[in-house]
Amino acid sequence: MRFLRVSRPDGPAFAALHADGQHAILVEGNPFREYTLTDRVAPLEKLTLLPPVLPSKVLCVGKNYRDHAAEMGGDVPAEPLIFSKPSTAVIGPGERIVLPELSEEVHHEAELAVVIGRICKSVPVEDAAEVVMGYLCANDVTARDLQRRDGQWTRSKGFDTFAPIGPWIDTDFDPSAGAAITCRVDGEERQRSTLDQMVFGVAELIAWCSAFATLLPGDVIMTGTPAGVGPITAGQTVEVEVEGLGTLSNPVVAAS
Ligand code: MN
Repeated sequence: MRFLRVSRPDGPAFAALHADGQHAILVEGNPFREYTLTDRVAPLEKLTLLPPVLPSKVLCVGKNYRDHAAEMGGDVPAEPLIFSKPSTAVIGPGERIVLPELSEEVHHEAELAVVIGRICKSVPVEDAAEVVMGYLCANDVTARDLQRRDGQWTRSKGFDTFAPIGPWIDTDFDPSAGAAITCRVDGEERQRSTLDQMVFGVAELIAWCSAFATLLPGDVIMTGTPAGVGPITAGQTVEVEVEGLGTLSNPVVAAS
């Protein structure tokens, strides 16, 4: 199942992607708890898509692909290097990434993200799959100049709009199959790798993160980016595609 969130006249609502890929089936209830599919169907192109989930926190891992660690001038960490993005950075499919005036070098980082399905703490690696609700595409947008200047990453990765996620939560996706992950800017490929190149896999990351923080339903863990990160500028469109999961597309605009 692929769950979307859409804007409705009476507020945000969950929907499920129709098998035809062109329509959304409105959902009654909450996919994280209990839900039913209704008989109300709407064409996707007539709907405003929202972030598929509003996480209480977004946890991320740095340097989790060997080729990206090398291009950043360092080795792969011996342990997962975790940082977080504020919930206010989250935007959905089609929403605008706003380039802040404080930065002159904003980069794309294509990533697979996992959505947590239930409250959990200290999850063993072997039980990690039980707390997964599904997967989505993510872009760990980063002000690279501020990241270098600050020496830590809170500001450079935490601007409003710097955590695009979507287009939907896929509950059937299997990250262990080694799907391709790509990033395109205005249609030109900038990043390409496969998920089996990750240093720490999804289960290890869930175990690592839940060892220090209670994870809540809807929390998002971004699993790191492969080599090829680079600048995005106003007027461009950046796409993150995970093979078999979907494509997240966001236009880039200057701060007004
Ligand atoms: Mn990243």
